[in-house]
Amino acid sequence: MIELKGVVKRYPGSKVNAVDNVSLQIHNGEFFGLLGPNGAGKSTIIGMLSTLLLLTDGEILIENIPFRRENMDLKRKLSVVTQHYSLRNDMTVWQIMELQARLYGLPKKEWVPRSKELLTFCGLDSECKKIVRRLSGGMKRKLMLARALLTDPSYLILDEPTVGLDPTSRRQIWDLLRILNQQGMTVLLTTHYMDEAQMLCKRIAIVNRGRITRVDSPENLIAGLGSYAVDTFDGVHTSSRFFSEKHDALNYVAESPYGTTLRSTTLEDVFLEETGCSLGGSM
Ligand code: ADP
Repeated sequence: MIELKGVVKRYPGSKVNAVDNVSLQIHNGEFFGLLGPNGAGKSTIIGMLSTLLLLTDGEILIENIPFRRENMDLKRKLSVVTQHYSLRNDMTVWQIMELQARLYGLPKKEWVPRSKELLTFCGLDSECKKIVRRLSGGMKRKLMLARALLTDPSYLILDEPTVGLDPTSRRQIWDLLRILNQQGMTVLLTTHYMDEAQMLCKRIAIVNRGRITRVDSPENLIAGLGSYAVDTFDGVHTSSRFFSEKHDALNYVAESPYGTTLRSTTLEDVFLEETGCSLGGSM
């Protein structure tokens, strides 16, 4: 289990907490999402989980053990895929895997077959000799995933894994993550794409301005608001009303003097109701 207990992060010189008293439990085998707009504090949480950022206050526990930079055994169990491409441009795909193996002191008889297996899993087996600079964005992201898996982690943490990717690459990454989770890996990702969160995550924490406002399954979050949404345009702006029962939504539509649209409620609606601000960028 990954546990955050009253975690606070304030950057030097800042007057506000980027992460403000966040407590969260991510259970083994879960597919968990941190959903929030840009600037919400998601990457800062990931930074602390990767031990690159120090906590201002609070504690992170992995399997009930306080998580510290120097605890290499625990660190190995947790692999982080950052949002920005963190690959040497002048290396080949194979050299990237080799470098990772050397950094973690993996024996050759272990990392060579494992790298082949992972590059095949990620659809990069025919790209081994290619220089990173010549890879597409989707391929780079898949290589970062293959590299993160080389140490055989129990927990895979990804910061906006599909940002900037074309729809085909996004779906390929989604499939890879689903397979890994099906195999028992705990997956924690951040996203500001509500379709990504809704499609992949069994539980979601809504993050806004450094705080977690809700934690639940996408289905429960939507049902809590009402599964039927009616958008009404009154000639100036559009507002939405939510209903648990379809006949109530239909009655509202029938009685409205304005143009209305009946649709299914989405996570974006939940987010807007919770925070009053748009997620933006959903595809
Ligand atoms: P998200 O990943 O949700 O987009 P971030 O964690 O990147 O959000 O940012 C949370 C807040 O912390 C933002 O207000 C951002 O401007 C601020 N922030 C992020 N990194 C730094 C930094 N290195 N120094 C100062 N402020 C930062």
